[in-house]
Amino acid sequence: MSEIIKTDALIVGAGPIGLFAVFELGLLDIKAQLVDILPKPGGQCAELYPEKPIYDIPGFPVITGQGIVDNLMTQIAPFGPGFHYNELVESLEVVGTAERPAFRVATDGDKVFEARVVSVAAGGGSFQPKKPPIAGIDAFEGKGVSYAVRRMEQFRGKRVLIVGGGDSAFDWVLNLHPIAERIILMHRRDAFRAAPRSVNAMRELVAAQKMDFVLGQATSLKGEGRLQAATVRGEDGTVFDIACDAMLPFFGLTMKVGPIAYWGLNLHENLVPVDTAKFESNIPGIFAIGDINTYPGKLKLILSGFHEAALAAQQAFRYVYPDKKLLFQYTTSSTSLQKKLGVN
Ligand code: FAD
Repeated sequence: MSEIIKTDALIVGAGPIGLFAVFELGLLDIKAQLVDILPKPGGQCAELYPEKPIYDIPGFPVITGQGIVDNLMTQIAPFGPGFHYNELVESLEVVGTAERPAFRVATDGDKVFEARVVSVAAGGGSFQPKKPPIAGIDAFEGKGVSYAVRRMEQFRGKRVLIVGGGDSAFDWVLNLHPIAERIILMHRRDAFRAAPRSVNAMRELVAAQKMDFVLGQATSLKGEGRLQAATVRGEDGTVFDIACDAMLPFFGLTMKVGPIAYWGLNLHENLVPVDTAKFESNIPGIFAIGDINTYPGKLKLILSGFHEAALAAQQAFRYVYPDKKLLFQYTTSSTSLQKKLGVN
C-alpha cells in the first residue's frame, strides 16, 4: 500500500467551494489536502466557463470564471494546501467514532489519506470523459486508449493519435509533440474550438511535416491485446487505417455523481442532504458543501457555497480540536488571523 498522507481535512473537489473551504478551515488552523479528477483547480468555473463573466460574486461587479479561481488560489496560498489532481476519490472508510471521527480515503491513483474530517465539495459530481462512438473502444481502454494524460513519459517514442478539436486536444498535441515519435491529430472538420494560437502552432507543425492532421472519424480499432491501428472514415467517405500505439480522444467531459454513491452517505437525487447549521451529512465528520448538497431553500450559487464552507469549518474545528474553545474573530481586527494570512 502507498504511504498514507495524514491531514486534518480532506476536501473532495477543487472547485470554487472546495478552494474556499481551505481558507475557512485554515483560519481555524485546520490543514487541508484537496483531490480533484481534473488536472487543474476551479471545477465548473474553470472547465465550463473560464472566460464568461460572473456578475453575482459579492464585492466583484464582474469577474470571469477563471478570474475567481485565480483569486481563490491567491487567497488560500498562505495555508499551503496539498493539491492532488488527476485523481478520482474512489473510496471512503470510517475509521473513527461519531465523537472522534476519522476517515481513510483512497483515490484511483493509489493515494491514501487519513483525515479527521472530510469536506465533500464535489459539485455536480466528478467530471468524466465523454467516450466517442467507436465500436469496441472499451476493450482498448488502458491498452492504448486513454482519455487523460496522467504521465507524459508514457507517450515517449509512440505514435499518438489525438482526436478532437478543442483546447484539450490541442494542448496535448503541442505538449506531446516533442516526445512522441509522431503525433496525428484527427478531427471531423477543418474548424476548431481551440485557442487560435494553438491552432496556428498546429498548422505550422503540419506545414513543416513534423506532425499529421487527418480529416475524418474513427469507426473501429484494431490490435492484438494492444491498440495497433484505428480504422477511419475520411471526409470523402474513403476508409483507411492509421497505425498508432496510443489514442487520446478528447470529446469533452460529463459530470457523474460517481463513487460518492458508495460511501454510506444518505443521498437524495444524487445530492447529499445536510443540516443548515453545520452542513454535515448523516455521517458525523463528513460535510457536504457547494452544489453537491441539498437542503430547503438551496441555491446552486457560488456565494451560497462560500457561506456553507464557513459554517462547516466551525463544526470541523470541534472535531479536530475537541479540547479547544472556538473564538469568533474578524480578519480585519484579529492579529492572530492576520499572522496566519501572512499579513501581520
Ligand atoms: P464544482 O465547480 O462542480 O466543482 C466540483 C469539483 O469536484 C469538480 O472539479 C469535480 O471534478 C470534483 N469531483 C467531484 N467528485 C470527485 C471525486 N470523486 N474525486 C475527485 N474529484 C471529484 N454560479 C454563480 O454563483 N454565478 C454565476 O453566474 C454562475 N454561472 C454559471 C454558468 C455556467 C455555464 C455554469 C455551468 C454554472 C454557473 N454557476 C454560477 C454555478 C457555479 O459554477 C457552481 O455553483 C459552482 O461551480 C459550484 O462549485 P462547487 O465547488 O460546489 O462544484
